[in-house]
Amino acid sequence: MSDNNTKSMIRRRTLLGAPLLLAGCDWRTAATYDGDWVGASHERGHRLQALSAAGSASGSAGGLSGGSPSGSAGDSATGSASHPVAASASQGALATPVVIKRCSLAIVGGGVAGLAAARSAMSAGVDDLRLFELEDDPGGNARGHLMGGLACPLGAHYLPLPGPDAHEVSELLHELGLLRSESGRTVADERHLCHSPQERLWVDGQWVDGLLPPADKGSTRERQYRQFAQLVADTSRRLRFTLPTHRAGWTPGHALLDNLSFANWLAAQGLDDTGLLWTLDYACRDDYGAGIHTVSAWAGLHYFASRHGFHAPGDETAEREAVFTWPEGNAWITRQLAAPLGERLQSGSVVLRVSAGKHQVQIDLWNAHSKQHERWLATQAVIALPLHVAARVVAEPSAALTTAAAQLSHAPWLVANLHLRTPLTDKPGAPPSWDNVLHTPGPLVKDETEPAESPAANPALGYVDAQHQSLRPTPGPTVLTAYWALGDGDRATVARQRQALLNDSWRNWSGRVVAELARAHPDLASKTARVDLMRYGHAMSIPMPGVRGSAALQALAQVQAGRLQFAHSDLAGYSVFEEAYTLGVAAGRAAAGRR
Ligand SMILES: Cc1cc2nc3c(=O)[nH]c(=O)nc-3n(C[C@H](O)[C@H](O)[C@H](O)COP(=O)(O)OP(=O)(O)OC[C@H]3O[C@@H](n4cnc5c(N)ncnc54)[C@H](O)[C@@H]3O)c2cc1C
Repeated sequence: MSDNNTKSMIRRRTLLGAPLLLAGCDWRTAATYDGDWVGASHERGHRLQALSAAGSASGSAGGLSGGSPSGSAGDSATGSASHPVAASASQGALATPVVIKRCSLAIVGGGVAGLAAARSAMSAGVDDLRLFELEDDPGGNARGHLMGGLACPLGAHYLPLPGPDAHEVSELLHELGLLRSESGRTVADERHLCHSPQERLWVDGQWVDGLLPPADKGSTRERQYRQFAQLVADTSRRLRFTLPTHRAGWTPGHALLDNLSFANWLAAQGLDDTGLLWTLDYACRDDYGAGIHTVSAWAGLHYFASRHGFHAPGDETAEREAVFTWPEGNAWITRQLAAPLGERLQSGSVVLRVSAGKHQVQIDLWNAHSKQHERWLATQAVIALPLHVAARVVAEPSAALTTAAAQLSHAPWLVANLHLRTPLTDKPGAPPSWDNVLHTPGPLVKDETEPAESPAANPALGYVDAQHQSLRPTPGPTVLTAYWALGDGDRATVARQRQALLNDSWRNWSGRVVAELARAHPDLASKTARVDLMRYGHAMSIPMPGVRGSAALQALAQVQAGRLQFAHSDLAGYSVFEEAYTLGVAAGRAAAGRR
C-alpha cells in the first residue's frame, strides 16, 4: 500500500483534530477578535412575521398569513432557509397597498441577472423601469463589504477572461474598460487581472505552487493527472462545452454525462488516486458548492473543458487561467451595473407577489424604508429571483416554474471576512498568493456520522487576500475572505447542513473558520481584529445529475409568451457570472421588445 493510500485510510476527523496541536498553541486563548453576522437583513424577515401576525389578528385582507421567517433570520432572501416571503405571498392575502404606482418594466431581484436585464432594457430604449431589490445594496451574491476601511467580497470574487461564446460579457467588459481591441486582438487591462502568484496549496506542512498535490515522477498520481488531462481533451473534441453553457447545444452525449455523478464517471475511467480526486472534488465544491459525489459528470467536465482544460504538472502548454479580480470581488462590476439606474433602483423592497394579468403585471411589495405596502402596475416584468423564491412569489406559477424549482437543490455557503491587524508570518514554500487553499487529507467518501458543521463533512475552501492586488511595497493590515460550501450530500443532508449554518452561533462558526485556517497560520487568531460572517442558506443551485438536462429549466430560459420573463443563474442549473449576466441580458431585451 502506497504512502498516500495509507493516509487515505486515516479518518479525516482524526486529522482535523491535529491542526491545533500542529499550530503549537490553542487558538481559543489567542483569539481576541470580535465580529458579527453581516450582509442579510434579518429584521426584514421579522417584520414580515409581525406584519403577518398583525394581519391575521385583524382578520382583514391584511398581513402575510402563512409566512414564517423561521430559519430566515440571518439569511437573505436569496439564501433563506424558508423564504419569509415565499410561503406567505401566494398562499395568504396581502395587505391593502398604501401606494399604487406605475412603470413600464418591473425587474424583481437585483443580482447580476436583474442588473443585466435593467442594463439591456435601458439600452433598448426603456427608460421607465423599476428594479426591486430586497437588500439595501444591489448585487445579490456579488456584493462587497468594508472592514477597517478595507474593501472585501461578501460572495463572488472573480471573473475569468470571457471566451468566444460569452459575447454579452465581452461587450460589457469592453464598455467598462477592462478589455480593449488593439490591432485586431483583445487585450485585458492588467491592473484588474489577478497578479502573480495566483494560487498555492498547503499540503503536508508546506505551501506548494498551484492547486495540485505534488506527484513524484513516474508515480500513479502523475500518470492519473495525465490520464485525466487527456480525457478532458478527448471529451472536448467530441462534445462542445461553452460559457454560457446553452451555446454548446445539448446532444445525447451531454445527456449521458448529465445522468451520472462525476465520481461514478471517474471510477469508470479507473481514476482513483486520492490526490487527483481531492483536486477535482475541491474544484467542484469551489464552483458548484458540492463535490464529485454530488455533481454530475457533465458539470465536472464542463468546469475544465469550458475553460483551459486540465494541466498535469510539467505540461508545457499549461497556461494559468487569467481572471479579473478586485478587493471587493465582483461587487466592482455590480456597482458599475447599478450606477446608471439612479432612482430606478428601489432597494429595501421585498417583493411578495407578482400577478400577471391580461393587460398588466401587478407587483406587491413591502417597502422596508417607508414601511409601507406598495403596489406597482407594469406592462412587463422580469423575474430575476432564485427559482424556489420565484415559484412562490409568482401567482399561479407555470408547470415549468414549479417543476424546475422542485428539481433544484441549493448549496448553503459561509463566507468569512477576517480583518488582520498585521501580516501573518508565512511558512516555508510558495509565497502568499491571491487564492490560498488548504489540502484536507483523507477519503472523499462522506462520513454520514460527522456533524453537519464539521469540516470532515464539507472541507473548507481556503481564502483569498483582498489586498493581493494592492501595489504597496510592504505587507500591512488586510482582509482574508474564507469560503466554505456546505452543499455536499443528498437533499436531507444538505438541509441539515443548512440548519447547522443558520442555527449555530457566530462565535462557533467564526471559531471553526479560524481553527481551520490555523492549520497553516498558527498566528492567525492573535492577529485577527474582527471576523464578519455572511451566511447563504440557498447560495447557488447544484448541478446534480439530471439538472442541466431538465426540460423545465430549458423552457424557462426561453423567451416567454406572456408578460413575465425569467432571468437568474438558476436557469443554467449552476451559478457563475457569465450565466447570470447572459440570461439577464436576454430577458431584458425580450421584455423591452414586448412592451
Ligand atoms: C459565496 C459565493 C461565491 C461565489 N463566487 C463566484 C465567483 O467568484 N465568480 C462567479 O462567476 N460566480 C460566483 N458565484 C456565483 C454567483 O452566484 C453568480 O456569479 C451571480 O452573482 C448570480 O447572480 P444572480 O442574479 O443569478 O443571482 P442572485 O445573486 O441570487 O440574485 C438574486 C437577487 O434577488 C434578490 N431577491 C430575492 N428575493 C427577493 C424578493 N422577494 N424581493 C426582491 N428581491 C429579492 C436577492 O436579494 C438578490 O439580490 C458565487 C456565489 C456565492 C454564493
